[in-house]
Amino acid sequence: MTYYGIVASEGIVFGDVFHYEPFVPSISEKKINSADIDKNIKSYENICEKAKKEIQELIEQMPQRDTDKLKIFSAHIEIVSDVAINEEIRGYIANELYSPDYAINLVYDKYIKIISRSKDPLIRERAADLKDVKLRLLRLWFNVDNTSLSNLQKPVVVVASDLSPSDTATMKRENVLAILTEAGGITSHTAILAKSCGIPAVLGIPNITKELKPSETVIVDAIEGKVITNPTQDEIDYYAARKKEFNIKMEEAKSFLSIEPFTSDGVRIEIALNICSSDDRELAHRNYTDGVGLFRTEFLYMKNENLPTEEEQFEEYKKVLQAYKDKPVTIRTLDIGGDKKLPCLELPEEDNPFLGLRALRLCFDNLHIFKTQLRALYRASIYGNLWIMFPMVGSLEDFRLAKKITEEVKAELAAGGYDFRNDVKIGIMVEIPSIAVMADKVASEVDFASIGTNDLCQYLTAVDRLNPKVVQYYQVYHPALFRVIGNVAKAFREHGKPLSICGELSGDPLVTPVLIGMGIRKLSMNESSVAAVKKQISTLDMQSAKRIANTVLELETAEQVEAFLKSEAAQK
Ligand code: PEP
Ligand code: MG
Repeated sequence: MTYYGIVASEGIVFGDVFHYEPFVPSISEKKINSADIDKNIKSYENICEKAKKEIQELIEQMPQRDTDKLKIFSAHIEIVSDVAINEEIRGYIANELYSPDYAINLVYDKYIKIISRSKDPLIRERAADLKDVKLRLLRLWFNVDNTSLSNLQKPVVVVASDLSPSDTATMKRENVLAILTEAGGITSHTAILAKSCGIPAVLGIPNITKELKPSETVIVDAIEGKVITNPTQDEIDYYAARKKEFNIKMEEAKSFLSIEPFTSDGVRIEIALNICSSDDRELAHRNYTDGVGLFRTEFLYMKNENLPTEEEQFEEYKKVLQAYKDKPVTIRTLDIGGDKKLPCLELPEEDNPFLGLRALRLCFDNLHIFKTQLRALYRASIYGNLWIMFPMVGSLEDFRLAKKITEEVKAELAAGGYDFRNDVKIGIMVEIPSIAVMADKVASEVDFASIGTNDLCQYLTAVDRLNPKVVQYYQVYHPALFRVIGNVAKAFREHGKPLSICGELSGDPLVTPVLIGMGIRKLSMNESSVAAVKKQISTLDMQSAKRIANTVLELETAEQVEAFLKSEAAQK
């Protein structure tokens, strides 16, 4: 049987299925017999003991210097031992004859609600701790294993209806052969992370969690977007050969990794990296790239059950800045909301999260989170060449307010006797059409900008970038997108300000000539795209690049653009 989906990260894999299902308790009002009150109270007390033991083990595995995390997990033990909470739960079991799971849910939800309503954001954050403890108790009550992608025991093909960014951020990457999901599109965060780790991924496959049996061996063709079950010997031979071919192609492309990217007529194009962490694996690419064009810092927040502290962030940013020495490291401030939820922060439910309290807007609403990050960034600035970039800027007011807050943070640091660099560049992502239209004004005010084509395409074409039902409308080759990029490029060129592209389009070698032809000189991408884009640049001359860009600006449909770019590539 063959199942079809969207390729998010290329590769061919043979592997065994592992179904991943995050624990979601289903709780309903259940009563116990009055004769069983003591037994149920005892069971409740037992799971409290087990929870404390689990948390204690976590604490013991944690490095001692993680004092903030240690404090938080110690607080979790205190919550489990809290006299008032325990009395209330026991009371519900003894007096109302509620089953312990129902009683736990009731009492914890009550406190979560109260805390979430607090005006003090620091208190609001504590709701996440209560939620965490509640889930731990309920998981233990239902006797469900702690299945997390962080403790995969052997290499598997992970199959899930969806993966949250925190699932992908914490997974044990070396044991993930491939990812298959029902949800997700090519610019979802699962896709971006899979690509940056070089894990083949096919997303948007209808019903795949129901179709595949646990542990069955499948072939994942993440080139054509297929999953094959019960393969015939012919299919096995065919895919073994294709896997070999693909690996040879990848090896060949690798020879372009270390070249300095010049066009054939000598124009130097900067190739920067998109990264998600300061992992040594990500920093290993520093020698053949021109810096970091986008550090998606939200992954630091998503992989933790608590907000990263100033100290933790400082260490993370310092490590990246030191690794890149003088090369620019563009660190984007927290871009949360949309598909990216934080386990450590209660976010309001919204009907249109991509149009809601996301990224910079959320930071304005949670100033302490924003300021903590800016403090960490400025403190780390003395270790390298830091560029700070704000996401989801919709107006010049947004930029000015963010900059004002930055100035406040600098003043606070100076008053506290901290060292920081005063020449840190401050720029924005161009990913909301309103700011793209204002490019001439923007270019005179910001130090630099980077075009986020993933969101720019989403907002320009009014298509949810994650919704598989409208994937055919999410047209990355839409001529309108190229026209907007062209206008932004012109404005920044006229003001002599640096402009780069950091959305997924930047790593698509078909599009490289168009972007260069429009005057873009810096492309930032996932590591897996670097070799192919460098190869493309080395065979390109500026006259062809301009001709290709001008032609694209005259075309009418995405289909025409794609066909034209493919025909150009085929002539090489
Ligand atoms: C973008 O929108 O193009 C971008 C680079 O940001 P993200 O994908 O993280 O939203
Ligand atoms: Mg974006």
